[in-house]
Amino acid sequence: MAFDTLKKAQPENVRLLENNRRKNRLAHAYVFEGMAGTKKMDTALFFASMLLCNETDGPCGACRNCRRIAHETHPNVYVVRPEKKNITKTMIRDLQTEFHKTAVESGPKIYLIEEAERMNAYAANALLKFLEEPHNDVFALLLTENATQLLPTIRSRSQTLHFHTIPHDIIIDELKAEGYDDEEARIAAALSRTTDAAKTWLNRDNFRDILELVGVLYEALADEESLVLTFERDHFGVLRQPDDYLAFYDVFSLYQKDLVYGKMKHYTSIVFQSKRPVMDRILSQKNRAMLVEELERMVEVRSRIDQYINVRLATDNVLLLMERRMNHEA
Ligand SMILES: [Zn+2]
Repeated sequence: MAFDTLKKAQPENVRLLENNRRKNRLAHAYVFEGMAGTKKMDTALFFASMLLCNETDGPCGACRNCRRIAHETHPNVYVVRPEKKNITKTMIRDLQTEFHKTAVESGPKIYLIEEAERMNAYAANALLKFLEEPHNDVFALLLTENATQLLPTIRSRSQTLHFHTIPHDIIIDELKAEGYDDEEARIAAALSRTTDAAKTWLNRDNFRDILELVGVLYEALADEESLVLTFERDHFGVLRQPDDYLAFYDVFSLYQKDLVYGKMKHYTSIVFQSKRPVMDRILSQKNRAMLVEELERMVEVRSRIDQYINVRLATDNVLLLMERRMNHEA
């Protein structure tokens, strides 16, 4: 990934590492703690590039060393990943053997351990011994979702960096940089906490069909047509199994939230920007309490989809509720 994007996604952590480097205060072991999708691995590769880049004002991300690091083919950068959810003593031993070889290229050596909490006790103790041996130019990066699952003795020898979730606008930028449509990127990012999860949405085979279905429902609402009949006509082939209904309700309630934002005049928070004209027509007919009640019903149905014998009936009830209008209320 581009370092520019990483610097926006994890500014504090990147700055801290750069500062440690500039002041010659790099720790020999770091724990990167954060949920999946918080770019711990990208930051680890950035760290390696920072130490091995050929450019003086690097890391550049483009030189031979940076490219080899990005592709995990640089001999000085060793990545340990769990196999069958386990990191064994043998895997740590292999790492040590590799780093004791003189054939490795000159310069600093960095090893990365992904899901470091998956080290069993033998592996953790082997790693601890390795951390205790003095190596000037060897750096350990231990990536984990939960640092408390690491040995306290390992943690006390490491500096811990916390990785927070990535802001939505960064996820949107990343998706757009990969060629995804602007509005679809915004929708997928709003439904997700990580770029990968957003991509899973975008690559879902019925994602666009679900967007279309939700769009058609709100158009029918604006046109004062029957939502139940519209749904009856259009949901076939799109919503086949419970999982499709979960996805449908995620998108449906996202659109509904947009209406609530619209009512509150928080226009920049609206995700479905292209639907603003339709939304305006609906907003002229509904007050905020109605919109919020409808949203609550959607969220409730979604939370019970697995238990519902008849999700269709529950959906019809939501749609009937939505058909109420201000003038009918009075
Ligand atoms: Zn470089």
